[in-house]
Amino acid sequence: MNLILMGLPGAGKGTQAEMIVDHYQVVHVSTGDMFRDAMSQQTPIGLKAKSFIDQGELVPDEVTDAIVKERLSQSDIQQSGYMLDGYPRNLEQAQALTQINQELKQTLDAVIDIQVPTQILIDRLSGRFICRNCGATYHKINHPTKVPGTCDRCGGHEFYQRDDDQPATVKNRLEVNLKMNTPLIDYYQKAGVYHEVDGNQNIDQVFQIIDKILSQLH
Ligand code: ADP
Ligand code: AMP
Repeated sequence: MNLILMGLPGAGKGTQAEMIVDHYQVVHVSTGDMFRDAMSQQTPIGLKAKSFIDQGELVPDEVTDAIVKERLSQSDIQQSGYMLDGYPRNLEQAQALTQINQELKQTLDAVIDIQVPTQILIDRLSGRFICRNCGATYHKINHPTKVPGTCDRCGGHEFYQRDDDQPATVKNRLEVNLKMNTPLIDYYQKAGVYHEVDGNQNIDQVFQIIDKILSQLH
């Protein structure tokens, strides 16, 4: 099964991705995570991406399309399928993905678009914190760890907030992403794979809707 998780920053893609991976055999591919890894290791891609990410802008398509193509070619994905999170983010990237799928003989089965009103996204991003060891995502109010200071998933004790979740960057990130989104929706509606999900409900309710869609694809 090959999937795309769509939604503005803060919609809950990473949170739902963890739950989908627990239930379905797919490999989570987050372009944001790949860029953050590359930045922390100061690779050439990380150095190129940093100035864009710091300002909430998109990294240029040629850089992003290339890392996705490389990742989708790997054997774990050939075997189990992919779940893209944060890619494609504009029409050109969607067209690039169609081409990559053709070259790799992969079929896109579903696009899950998690929709959440903007004001709620701002609240979610400002309260987001992440486990430094395993990457599990939490929220100070909506989704705290069960035991304060301990990750539910791996037991880790160190957490961080993303630099680009600061209020100054969030507004621009949301604007940039919103503008690019509309043609993407149209592209995937025409392809007959688009599913809109109301993401303004609690985490388990959102997962139930996604699970229903995915279980019908099997
Ligand atoms: P994305 O990957 O789309 O940017 P995340 O999964 O990181 O979004 O979620 C953003 C923030 O919102 C996190 O702090 C997360 O714990 C919280 N969150 C995710 N889904 C929900 C939800 N359905 N209701 C309330 N808060 C949520
Ligand atoms: P995310 O973790 O998905 O919110 O992504 C964090 C940042 O990484 C974004 O604000 C962009 O700067 C960059 N990024 C992630 N995915 C893409 C993409 N598909 N195209 C361009 N830039 C991206």
